[in-house]
Amino acid sequence: MNTIKENYQKIKQALPEKVTLVAVSKTKPIPLLQELYDLGERVFGENRVEELIVKNETLPKDIQWHMIGHLQSKKVKKIASFISLIHSVDSFKLLKEINKEAQKNNRIIDCLFQFHIAKEETKYGFSLTKVKIIINSNEFKGLKNIQIKGVMGMATFTNNQEIVRQEFQTLHEISTEIKIVLPFATIISMGMSGDYKLAIQEGSNMVRVGSSIFGSRN
Ligand SMILES: *Cc1c(COP(=O)(O)O)cnc(C)c1O
Repeated sequence: MNTIKENYQKIKQALPEKVTLVAVSKTKPIPLLQELYDLGERVFGENRVEELIVKNETLPKDIQWHMIGHLQSKKVKKIASFISLIHSVDSFKLLKEINKEAQKNNRIIDCLFQFHIAKEETKYGFSLTKVKIIINSNEFKGLKNIQIKGVMGMATFTNNQEIVRQEFQTLHEISTEIKIVLPFATIISMGMSGDYKLAIQEGSNMVRVGSSIFGSRN
């Protein structure tokens, strides 16, 4: 089995310079995150609020914490003071709540719109139609404490590369459309351990990689 160091260095070397790595550390114990931190990693992705809070309190303060999992509106206040980027904005209600809590903390929280690009029913996310309605609304224009930085999506869990490629192409096209209205929404967060190389070929500039760094989660 490879060490975290070997895994990390191999991935870092394979990534084009314009692609940001989010090290997905969900379920992993704090010493492993510290090990990756000591190798130079500063961007970590988590999907559970409680775990995120403990890790943020324990680990060095210059870590940028990304929320990548489904987020309930009532839990936003627990992470609003420190979260660096929320990838998983999947409802207007949630976005308004993030804005409210960001305002209380006197900061602007960066967000991505999560799009439903996979075949599976269970994956969260918007359609482009819905997001267009939101971003053209006056209510959206009044949200001064959030910044939409781009889009995020998860492909279908399948070995069929052509399906995955098509879904990544769809998210890339969505990104192009969104940028017409929101020119600073340049992030395309797509690609995980199994498909990040394909995602980069299709225009990803932010990959969320967990098991290829830390080993499988069981
Ligand atoms: C767990 C997770 C990842 C990372 O998955 P790996 O296959 O371990 O790389 C990426 N994105 C999201 C949204 C996740 O929940």
